[in-house]
Amino acid sequence: PLILGIETSCDETAAAVVTRGPEGRPLILSNIVFSQVEEHAAFGGVVPEIAARAHVEALDGIVRAALQDAALAVSDLAAVAATSGPGLIGALIVGAMTGKAIAGAAGLPFLAINHLEGHALTPRLTDGVAYPYLMLLASGGHTQILLVRGLGRYERWGTTIDDALGEAFDKTAKLLGLGHPGGPNVEKAAADGDARRFPLPRPMRGEKRLDFSFSGLKTAVRQAAEAAAPLAPQDVADLCAGFQAAAADSVADRVARALARFRAEFPDLEAPVLAVAGGVAANRTIRAALEAASRTAGVALVAPPLALCTDNAAMIAHAGLERFEAGLRDGLDAPVRPRWPLDETAPPLVGFGR
Ligand code: ATP
Ligand code: MG
Ligand code: FE
Repeated sequence: PLILGIETSCDETAAAVVTRGPEGRPLILSNIVFSQVEEHAAFGGVVPEIAARAHVEALDGIVRAALQDAALAVSDLAAVAATSGPGLIGALIVGAMTGKAIAGAAGLPFLAINHLEGHALTPRLTDGVAYPYLMLLASGGHTQILLVRGLGRYERWGTTIDDALGEAFDKTAKLLGLGHPGGPNVEKAAADGDARRFPLPRPMRGEKRLDFSFSGLKTAVRQAAEAAAPLAPQDVADLCAGFQAAAADSVADRVARALARFRAEFPDLEAPVLAVAGGVAANRTIRAALEAASRTAGVALVAPPLALCTDNAAMIAHAGLERFEAGLRDGLDAPVRPRWPLDETAPPLVGFGR
């Protein structure tokens, strides 16, 4: 079945077509992503109203391009899937309404997709990973450890109690005078830095619960920066390296604990997998820490290509494909949900993210 996917939850306008290929593996026929990052750069973060307007301007052309790349017409499709939450409400409405309009006009089923489910199922799209597996989602809006038992069966084992990891990178970059988005800039500056010069905390290390916390680390960086002011380039490099090392240690500690629990819960799995998603997966120090933790636990680390780790519509079309094949359908009255936890049984947390 050919599924059109639409993603507009934040600052990427994206459309893609995914189908089930030979041998049962999902196949990406087209995957178009338009990043609005330049539109928001001057403001040091994503501006919701600008994001919604930019989606309105770009989406029709992006959908047309995704169909054209796949050499398809709307009448060839089996269903239309669109991100319906969580995310910025104005941005979500643009994508969901467009998806519904196409589905309604063509008489196709509509699938309302949880953006986090798109990320959670990505290792199945890229690597054909079998259920169950463990997932670390680390992006600008989310930092979660998920047990993916099966389609629609997600257990959130841990989440951040304050900032997301990508958000902590972005805020650290901002306070050190590096541009937005901060993650890649912090990583670049850290390459010339001494991670041991500034002693920084490893938040949550050793904690039994599998949650994360990064705002204390960010504050510690700010205090160290204020004490060392005025900052020379070497000071900035050392602060970036220190922050990155502390964040990686903290993440590795949380993930090691989760991996131990995963191994204990599924002792008979032949090929246990930890998969990563989210833009922070691009960071080489974080990735090395995850590789070490996985190796120690005897678990394979699956890191999809970066373009499928960050926000995209192929993951939304693919989640739609799995749901379509499972017989799931949503009405054209399906709401958008700015907050939509993947694990409905998860206790609500302060600072759950967007
Ligand atoms: P959502 O949380 O809704 O998925 P998002 O757009 O913020 O949304 P992504 O696009 O997956 O998430 O990732 C962007 C985040 O990843 C930003 O916070 C960015 O700073 C961070 N990031 C990207 N590259 C790196 C890197 N090399 N090192 C650290 N962080 C990075
Ligand atoms: Mg983004
Ligand atoms: Fe995302």
